[in-house]
Amino acid sequence: MKITKIVGHHVRIPLVHPAKWSGGTRMSAPAYILQVHTDEGIIGLGECVGPTIPVIASIVTEEFTQFLIGQDPLKTELLVRRLEEFARNWLQLGAYAIAGIEMALLDIKGKWLGAPVYQLLGGACKSSVGYAGYLFIDDPQMNAKRALAYKEQGYTEIKMKVGRDLKNDLDTLAAIRSAIGYDIKLRVDANMNWSVPTAIKWIKAMQPYDIQYVEQPVPDYDLDGMAAVRRAVDVPIASDESCSSVERVLQMIKRESCDVFVVYVSEAGGLTRARTIASIADACGKWCAMGTWAETGVATMAGAHVIASSANFVFCNDSHYMLQSDDILTEPLRIRQGKITLSDKPGLGIELDPQKLDTFTKCEVRESVFFDAIEDEQMPLIGQVL
Ligand SMILES: [Mg+2]
Repeated sequence: MKITKIVGHHVRIPLVHPAKWSGGTRMSAPAYILQVHTDEGIIGLGECVGPTIPVIASIVTEEFTQFLIGQDPLKTELLVRRLEEFARNWLQLGAYAIAGIEMALLDIKGKWLGAPVYQLLGGACKSSVGYAGYLFIDDPQMNAKRALAYKEQGYTEIKMKVGRDLKNDLDTLAAIRSAIGYDIKLRVDANMNWSVPTAIKWIKAMQPYDIQYVEQPVPDYDLDGMAAVRRAVDVPIASDESCSSVERVLQMIKRESCDVFVVYVSEAGGLTRARTIASIADACGKWCAMGTWAETGVATMAGAHVIASSANFVFCNDSHYMLQSDDILTEPLRIRQGKITLSDKPGLGIELDPQKLDTFTKCEVRESVFFDAIEDEQMPLIGQVL
C-alpha cells in the first residue's frame, strides 16, 4: 500500500460558553483535520491541534507531505521516526503535526487489518473511558450550578481552572463543595500562573476542599520549582505543560517533580509516544490523565483509544468535548455518565460528515488561547502571581 495524497481542512467549532483560564479565554475548538489517501482506497483520518494551527498545518503541507507520498502507511514507527529526525531542531512544533499524521496512519492500519486502533496499541484494558466535568474561572455560584449538573449527569470527577484570584478560587471551591459534597473528586489547574511561594500558599489554602491534584502550579520549564512545591504541600502535583515529550517525562522523574502526568497525543507527537509515556509512568509508580487542547471528535476518539489501551490512566480524563456546540462526525461521540464507550469498528471507528466539515471550515474567527479578549487588563503573566 502507498500514500497517494494528504488533504487538510481547517475547522473551528464554537464552544457553548467562553472557557476562561489563568492565561486567556478560549472561545472555540480549532483544528486541522487530515485525510490521508492510499492507493488501496483506504482513507485515514487524523487531527492536528495545538498552539498555532496555521503553522502546524503549514508543517504538514510544506514540510512533511513530500516525505510521505509514495510511502507504505503501515510502517508507522519508521515514518514517525523519520519525521522526528526531519524536525529535530523544531520538534516541539513538529510533534503537533506528526501527531495528526500518525493518527491517520494508525486509522489506515486499523482499517486494513480490520482492528480498532486500541488493539494496535496493546488491546483494551477497559471498554469505556471516563472524563472529568470541566469548569473554568467564573462566578462561584455559576460554577457550583455547573458542578451539580455534572454530578447529576453521572460524572464522578470534576476539573476546575484556577489561578487568577485566590479569593475567587476559594469562594468557588466552597460553593462547589457545598453544592456537590465530598464524594466527587475535584482537581484544579493553575496553568503555570504561580511562582513557587504563591503555589505553596494557594495550595495550602485550598487543601481543606479535598483537592484530588493540582495541575501545573508553576511554569513549564521550572521542574525543580515544581519539585519544591510538591515537597511543601500535601496535595499531589500533576505536570501538564511540562509533560510535553518522552524526554521531559524522564527529566521530571529524575527530579521527582510530580505525581501525575497529564499526557497529550498532540504534544507527545502521536498515539504511540503518548502510550510510551503512560508505560514509563507506570514503571515509576506515577499515574496519567489525558489532557486536552480542545480536540474535535477525531482526536478525542484517538485519545480514547490510547487511554483504553493502558491500565495507567487511573483518573477521569480531560476534554472540552462536552462544551463544544457540535462536531464534524457523522455520529458525534456520546458521553454518558461521564464516559465514552469504545466500539469494535476498525481504525478510529469514526467518519467525517462532509456537510458539517463544510460548515465548520467556514468559521473564521481568529483567536489564540493565550489571549483574553474579555479581561485582557486583568490577565496575569505566566508564573507572576505573587
Ligand atoms: Mg492543564
